Amino acid sequence: MSSLFPALVGGSVAERSALRFGERSLTYAQLAASAGALAARLDGAGRVAVWATPTLETAVGVVAALLAGVPAVPLNAKSGEGELEHILTDSAPSAVLAAPGDELPGPVRALRRIDVVAEPAGDGAVPALPPEPAGPADPALVVYTSGTTGPPKGAVIPRRAIASTLDALADAWQWTGDDVLVHGLPLFHVHGLVLGVLGPLRRGGSMRHLGRFSAQGVVRELNGGATMLFGVPTMYHRLAETLDADPEAAEALGRARLLVSGSAALPVHDHERITAATGRPVVERYGMTETLMNTSVRADGKPRPGTVGVPLPGVGLRLVEEDGSVIAGYDADGTPTGAHDGESVGEIQVRGPNLFTEYLNRPDATAAAYTEDGWFRTGDMAVLDTDGSVRIVGRKATDLIKSGGFKIGAGEIENALLEHPGVREAAVTGEPDEDLGERVVAWIVPTDPQSPPSADELADQVAHRLAPHKRPRVVHVLESLPRNDMGKILKRALKRD
Ligand code: ATP
Ligand code: MG
Repeated sequence: MSSLFPALVGGSVAERSALRFGERSLTYAQLAASAGALAARLDGAGRVAVWATPTLETAVGVVAALLAGVPAVPLNAKSGEGELEHILTDSAPSAVLAAPGDELPGPVRALRRIDVVAEPAGDGAVPALPPEPAGPADPALVVYTSGTTGPPKGAVIPRRAIASTLDALADAWQWTGDDVLVHGLPLFHVHGLVLGVLGPLRRGGSMRHLGRFSAQGVVRELNGGATMLFGVPTMYHRLAETLDADPEAAEALGRARLLVSGSAALPVHDHERITAATGRPVVERYGMTETLMNTSVRADGKPRPGTVGVPLPGVGLRLVEEDGSVIAGYDADGTPTGAHDGESVGEIQVRGPNLFTEYLNRPDATAAAYTEDGWFRTGDMAVLDTDGSVRIVGRKATDLIKSGGFKIGAGEIENALLEHPGVREAAVTGEPDEDLGERVVAWIVPTDPQSPPSADELADQVAHRLAPHKRPRVVHVLESLPRNDMGKILKRALKRD
């Protein structure tokens, strides 16, 4: 059975830095020794939870579980006890992996605890690791979705999905063992864990984690030889704000081989500011817990703000209308199908080796997530542009406003609002309206809380940039937008107020 980490078990880059968190780091040989020793203790453990703080221990714990063929369930250390209880009852792990000093809350303390030792050990030689006792279809991870649209569901991710998504990204991004990644994301979701930790390890490259994201940390690492940055849109927003006043930061970002954004839509305004200041585009990729990565702008492609590129190698993608008719798409070998007209909106459906197996204990939700002919319904709506790139319009459930006979995507209105200098953050929702069916509602955080832009001014901004029927009819001014730990806007919370 083939390893998920050929560079780690093969010893080809034994002396190279594999993982660094703050001051602490492990070479490939040291990681093989730490994770290999732990893997031997996990043999036959069933499923293990991992107390997923942004530390070396979390990374070593997950790698050990994968080497042992034991599915890992990352836990968000910031979750409330109710959510942890839900996840632990649902996933029923036999133990929890934690760092020696970690204080665990009640529901997690009830589990058998295994302390992860992530110290440089051994004589620098790569220990012989036994073959991973698991095949491509076996579960590698159970990752709970972000809970943006409802209670988190445990997506069972097979080993094949991890291997195929990472190899497809390597192809799209020309990602090699020479790359050094800067990373400031949490490790309990696929972005930070699968792409950010397992990605560099599968390539035989290096990862440096900031512990906590900061613009200064990113600049320091890029000046120190890092080649890639993975971030979520809130991070790029903070970088965009920094760049305006800091030419050195702009220079550092300009030096990066690849700036990658994902997990939510990158506002066009932030993308344009970063490119204007650094000369570098931001490469957007689109994925989900259930599918890992579906599309990306390619390293040799032409990133256009607001688009997420093309399907990754091996991923079939199609846009489907509400009545089930297929608008257009791509075969798994990349051949375009149907008309890429830049206008017709449909739900994105995907299939490929990158997909999850099931939602744990939720056969109902698993069945509902697939079409009769085996495509996964993402719940995201998009358009295929005439140049072939996928442009996400928003989520079917929260971002599509049906107003006056039109289907309006919240995202383009948010982008138009964000171009107004008086708007720092924006979210758009629909609410019932007697005349229109639904009306467009804007929720903004003003740049200057003392003088927020008026509702009329914002309506004009949208009416001129897009079309009059897209203008917000109601504007709410807030101090901040409700966001989850990944920085995603929780529109459910906005609607409830
Ligand atoms: P839940 O499924 O629990 O409601 P969630 O969908 O936010 O939460 P994730 O699996 O973490 O959980 O996120 C996947 C979603 O994030 C996608 O379905 C899509 O809506 C959004 N997304 C990811 N990348 C992008 C992107 N580049 N542009 C726009 N949206 C994106
Ligand atoms: Mg989802």
